[in-house]
This record gives sequence, structure tokens and C-alpha cells, in this order.
Amino acid sequence: MADTLLKFLFRDAPVRGEIVRLDASWRAMTAHHRYPAPVLRLLGEMTAAAALLAANLKFDGAIVMQIQGNGPVRLLVVEVQSGMKLRATAKLREGSIAAGATLQQLVNPGGDARCAITLDPADRHPGQQPYQGVVPLEGETIAQVLEHYLRQSEQVESRLWLAANGAAAAGVLLQKLPQDAGAAPRTDTDAWPRAGALTATLTADELLALEPQALAHRLYWEERLDHFAPLAPRFECSCSRGRSGRMLLALGREEAESILAERGEVEIVCDFCNARYAFDAVDVAQLFASGIARETESSARH
Ligand SMILES: [Zn+2]
Repeated sequence: MADTLLKFLFRDAPVRGEIVRLDASWRAMTAHHRYPAPVLRLLGEMTAAAALLAANLKFDGAIVMQIQGNGPVRLLVVEVQSGMKLRATAKLREGSIAAGATLQQLVNPGGDARCAITLDPADRHPGQQPYQGVVPLEGETIAQVLEHYLRQSEQVESRLWLAANGAAAAGVLLQKLPQDAGAAPRTDTDAWPRAGALTATLTADELLALEPQALAHRLYWEERLDHFAPLAPRFECSCSRGRSGRMLLALGREEAESILAERGEVEIVCDFCNARYAFDAVDVAQLFASGIARETESSARH
């Protein structure tokens, strides 16, 4: 099945929806990691949700969803760059994870974990901060946490259904649009609860088994929907040798040289795609010489 994100509108009612399905992209994103099943599920649900939110952005830019956990899962990060380029990673603490571990057990046994969502417009000025919304991890599922975020930050009544396993990640987002000011009131006032009730009949297995078009038909075959051209989410990592070099510069020459002395090279491994960037003694010397030259140049200019 193809990786697809489908957007649609209920024709006679102020309700819009999206269905996303990640297949090959999800498997590529997780191929280099051996996440326990509950972590895979949580990260997959976050990834599907981030794709759904990204497709709703009114500007060209990136969305980053991040949970800093205080339990067996230390960190969950999902990024969606413009053009539906996705990447995701999870970092775990030492120790085992129970097969049925819940969201709260995985990331929030301490009770104070939060989910941060950063919206970063592509045309942001250098001095401008990206917009960040933070919500407490209240709820049994990541869908509940994000419904809370959408209500709070966008003030849009929203419902989310998410599912993920090792093979796929998928989700449905429904949003109740505000009535247009001055426009004739829509006649179908029952559409919002009806759309929710129809979608709630969906099982996680169905959500993971059906393509978005088939799913839309299965759920809303009695409704009149307007479809938009589907989007094609894909896995793409933005790491590079240049970026890894800048990380090494930030680490400092002393630290880099001590790693060199110990191991003969400095290796930086991308958490997202597992790409390996190795720097030997010559590379490190060149990097710091050119990096420091650039620093001096830029400070001389100011
Ligand atoms: Zn990478």
C-alpha cells in the first residue's frame, strides 16, 4: 500500500477530515532500531498525528513533536518538514519494557511530562522564535493528549484516532470548523457528532489494514464528501556530514581530540536514520582550522 494522506470536507457541514497511512516510510524510519512493541506503537501514533497536523499548517514549514519522558522512554521526537518529509526517533533508558506498557507507564510515571509541539515557518526571520505549544501528558493515549493540544492552541474542536504497529502507522483527524461569519448557516447541524460516531466504529486493526480511500468509503459512504488531491508522506532525513561537523565543532576541540586519542576516529551516528559520519585526525584538524577561521572572520565583520 502507498503512503498517503487524504484530506476531505463534508460538503454540507462545517467538518473537515484527514486520513493518513504510513507504510514504507514508517518501516524505513524504524528499520535501524529495535523498539519494543509499546514504544513502536507510541512513536508510530505520534508520527501519524504529526503528519495529520502538518497537512493542516497554513504556512510552509516544519512541525516537531517532542516528549521528554521521565520513565523507561527518555525521548520521543517526530519531525515533519515541508513536502511531508518525515523522520522520528525514540531514546530509551536501560531496563526492560513490559509488553502492555501504557503511555503513562512509558513516558510519565513521574507525572510531570509534557508534549511540546513546535511550528517553524520556512521563512522565519533569524531573530524570530518558532511557535511552541506545550501540553501536559494527560490522558491514556497520545490521541487524547493531542486533542487537548488542538482545543487549547487552535481552539478547534478536534477528534483523533491513531494506531501503529511494526508494519504501519495510521490516523484519522476530524475537525469542526467555525461557522463562517456572515455566511448562511449550514443546514447539517448534526454532522459533527455523526462524523465522530461513524469514525468511532473503527477498530485499530481496520485503521491499520485499509487504505485511506477505502477507509473514507467504509466510514462515510452515506456522506457527501469533497476530496482534495492526496499528499504523499515519505521518510527523509535531513542529516549530513556538514551538520555532523558542526556538532563536532560545538563539542569542542579538546573533547574531539580525546575521542580521537581513544578510538582513532570520531564517529557521529544519526539518531533518526542511523547514517554514520566518521572523522579521522586529518578531518578533525581541518574542521577546527576552517571552523575557527570562519568564527574569526564573522567576529571580525561585526
Ligand atoms: Zn539522518
